[in-house]
Amino acid sequence: MNSSLTILTVLAFQDNYLWIIHNGTHAVVVDPGDSVPILHALTQHKLELSAILLTHHHADHIGGVPALLAKLATSRQIPVFGPANDGISVVTEALRQGDTVHLPELDLQLSVIDVPGHTLGHIAYFAATQHWLFCGDTLFAGGCGRLFEGTPAQMLTSLDKLAQLPDDTMVYCAHEYTLSNLRFATEVEPDNVQLKQRLVTEKHKRDQGIPTVPTQIGLEKQTNPFLRSRQASVISSLLKHHKITNSHDEAANFAALREWKNHFA
Ligand SMILES: [Zn+2]
Repeated sequence: MNSSLTILTVLAFQDNYLWIIHNGTHAVVVDPGDSVPILHALTQHKLELSAILLTHHHADHIGGVPALLAKLATSRQIPVFGPANDGISVVTEALRQGDTVHLPELDLQLSVIDVPGHTLGHIAYFAATQHWLFCGDTLFAGGCGRLFEGTPAQMLTSLDKLAQLPDDTMVYCAHEYTLSNLRFATEVEPDNVQLKQRLVTEKHKRDQGIPTVPTQIGLEKQTNPFLRSRQASVISSLLKHHKITNSHDEAANFAALREWKNHFA
């Protein structure tokens, strides 16, 4: 049924990943911040764009939408799926927690998860059949998005939702920040063996110019400090580095961890 779907990694700007899901004929694009590399990939693979999916309002995620619609939607409708509450004017299909996106051309269903924190209206898309997650700037490989609009408590709740997805879920996040994230993770958990191994593996990929994304939920749960803020090792590190004075408040611990990363060189 869905076994013929493929995901293309499209590079944009400095370190953005835009995602094209296709079946050899039809395609949908996730977070097209730039139309140029998307149009190039569609032409190269002879794909017709069926829909656009957006996770949040930042320009590097939505900036290419007007040009894609101007070039491709002249003779037919291209729906633009996106969050109901993130202030994106180009959205035609407004989504919130619990909604399902049906993409009949690809025989693909995506469920919508509200993940406020990076922005207040940020959503993620989960393909339950394929175990694919498109999470924008919420969960990164080894890290998480900055809190531009939401509170630490909101981001912690959002990441908790993503951590409950199956361990083999492939995480298609929107940036290549992995090595700097893992260097911070190593500062937080110097004795985490899986983390040490992961840093070597991911460094090797980057040395060869290979993306470290997608990652997997199971690996993130073992190595990403932002999914591990309740672990004794992380809490004791926060105390040892004087980022917190007691460990009683989960959201405060998470906030201190995020703040620590913000200032980590
Ligand atoms: Zn963003």
